[in-house]
Amino acid sequence: MKFGTLFVISGPSGSGKGTILNKVIDDANVSLSISATTRQPRSGEKDGVHYHFMTREKFLSEIENNNVLEYNEYCGNLYGTLKSEVETLLASGKDVILEIDVNGAKQIAKSMECVRVFILPPSMETLKQRLSLRGTETDETLNNRINQAHSEIDEAYYYDYVVVNDELEDAVKKIKSILEVERLRASKMKFKIDRLKK
Ligand code: ADP
Ligand code: 5GP
Repeated sequence: MKFGTLFVISGPSGSGKGTILNKVIDDANVSLSISATTRQPRSGEKDGVHYHFMTREKFLSEIENNNVLEYNEYCGNLYGTLKSEVETLLASGKDVILEIDVNGAKQIAKSMECVRVFILPPSMETLKQRLSLRGTETDETLNNRINQAHSEIDEAYYYDYVVVNDELEDAVKKIKSILEVERLRASKMKFKIDRLKK
């Protein structure tokens, strides 16, 4: 039986995770897990496409019913990965990407085999500019996210790969190469295990 590879992508808000992944998932063999969140949708965000938007009460009942693989509270909202988004896809041999924060990544790494990739901005100044230009944050939420970014960045040391998102196309190429290399590694491993069992 072939299981897909699980990729975990983290990085501070505004580092470019969403922008990069949008360009990576045109690759038919990889699916992006859609997280659940209690945050309000931004303009243009659709339920079931960008997130499964839900009330805090519904989110807590999903945890209670053991439907959540990992979750965390980030800047006052809950975010989490639903089991239903991940397990069936991996079991069918598909590779899956989780775009989750550093706390969620730690929880996943404890219980599942995964490849962790951290996306860094070229500088804190650029991060602030990009987040501000995105136009999704108030002064307060922007400052909260930048404050949070400092402690998140310290976690980059523990990831398997770190990619600096300076030129977008370079960063996209690097992430695509990581996916390819890790897929190859997983299939070589499977080949060795299958051969041993013969
Ligand atoms: P995240 O998903 O990590 O919060 P986004 O993908 O929303 O970050 O990117 C934040 C902002 O920065 C967006 O407005 C996006 O268009 C812009 N951006 C992302 N990568 C680059 C880049 N390499 N160069 C310039 N702007 C970028
Ligand atoms: P945003 O509000 O910008 O969409 O996301 C805020 C933060 O929540 C980002 O760091 C993002 O990676 C993280 N996030 C999104 N989905 C999940 C999830 O399912 N689990 C966890 N732990 N974090 C998530």
